[in-house]
Amino acid sequence: MGWQSEFLKGNQYSQAAIELVDEAEQQLKDVFKHFEGIALFNQNKLLNAFIENKVATRHFASSTGYGYADEGRDTLDRIFAEVMGSEDAIVRPQIASGTHAIALCLTALLKQGDTLLCVTGAPYDTIRDTIGITGDSPLSLKNMGVTYKQLELKGSLIDIEQAVEASKNAGFIYIQRSRGYDWRDSLSVEHIQKCVEAIKAVNRGCIVFVDNCYGEFVDKQEPTEVGADIIAGSLIKNPGGGIAPTGGYIAGRAHLVDIAAQRLTAPGIGREVGSYAFGYTAYYQGLFLAPHVVAQSLKGAALFAGVFESLGHETSPKSTELRNDIIQAIQFSSEENLVDFCRAVQAASPVDGHVVPFAWDMPGYQHQVIMASGAFISGSSIELSADAPIKQPYIAYVQGGLTYEHAKLAVLKVLTSLRV
Ligand SMILES: *Cc1c(COP(=O)(O)O)cnc(C)c1O
Repeated sequence: MGWQSEFLKGNQYSQAAIELVDEAEQQLKDVFKHFEGIALFNQNKLLNAFIENKVATRHFASSTGYGYADEGRDTLDRIFAEVMGSEDAIVRPQIASGTHAIALCLTALLKQGDTLLCVTGAPYDTIRDTIGITGDSPLSLKNMGVTYKQLELKGSLIDIEQAVEASKNAGFIYIQRSRGYDWRDSLSVEHIQKCVEAIKAVNRGCIVFVDNCYGEFVDKQEPTEVGADIIAGSLIKNPGGGIAPTGGYIAGRAHLVDIAAQRLTAPGIGREVGSYAFGYTAYYQGLFLAPHVVAQSLKGAALFAGVFESLGHETSPKSTELRNDIIQAIQFSSEENLVDFCRAVQAASPVDGHVVPFAWDMPGYQHQVIMASGAFISGSSIELSADAPIKQPYIAYVQGGLTYEHAKLAVLKVLTSLRV
């Protein structure tokens, strides 16, 4: 530590905060090494995919109008597919969010009379209106005649036995990899593989979909490499590397991706149209940076867990536990402490650090939510951010961090401002 400790003290970080962070870093050395190893593995995948696809400056060029034969767009699709270990992928700025990417898959691949079986408990809040669990959209799956069934997790895992049984009467299986806004474990790709194999053994023809949000590049493999038929996610989370300005992706079996693309634009047209006047540099560069940025945010998440564990808070996952997404859940004893925490994270942000967040009724969420988000890309959660639904038990979900250095300074600022 030496000069660092003096330097941090000189910058108004409290002695207690500096010591807590130092201790946590000592304990997390091996955990950090593990994340760095995974980043190296995934960086290699990306580097090879870029080279094999002969990425060149012309791929970054803008396109206009219909975007027929947009080489930048189509090459990015191929790289994404390769990295996800899937037959095909579509990556588009026109996919507005992760929810949109997921909704495209569901509404494209399910039709009247079909059954959608979610085997990971209630899906992420914003997907519930799409399915028709909540809300009254005339376009919900429910109103389109799709039956919805749900199995709860057994402990922190999929109840494979029940899932196999229930899947006999379901054509579409839904798995959420990440914890989302729930106090549950995220699922390992290995466990997803076990579940997919068991289900496919009795129901070959069913489609297994994975909501891959927050999971990309946390592990060496993606769900599509272990049998999932189709996955979707957001580009202002992991795979955009903090650089992609907007968008989402869908990856999976070619015929399924093709149908989802037809839902995105129009039947018969699909992926052939769609231009982007700003060019694709940010998408290529963001994807290339993503494994490193994900490792930075994982290190930050583990550090948050480590210091708050020392202070007696419940955390999920624990600081030294294996991670399957970038989210760190931390429990607080009261609404006031929860809000103070989120405000302290906001105050440690490079953008809007002077702004004070308040809880509000976000579209798509069932409770009021307070969000600390001082990001370069509006709402980006691969950048350091904290979200907390205002409900008991009071849990803040912290995620992201473009650099570990920022995450560490943010932890120091938060601890200092909370006067630990
Ligand atoms: C973020 C998230 C979504 C939805 O993504 P948005 O980009 O916010 O629409 C869906 N599922 C999970 C698990 C998520 O974390």
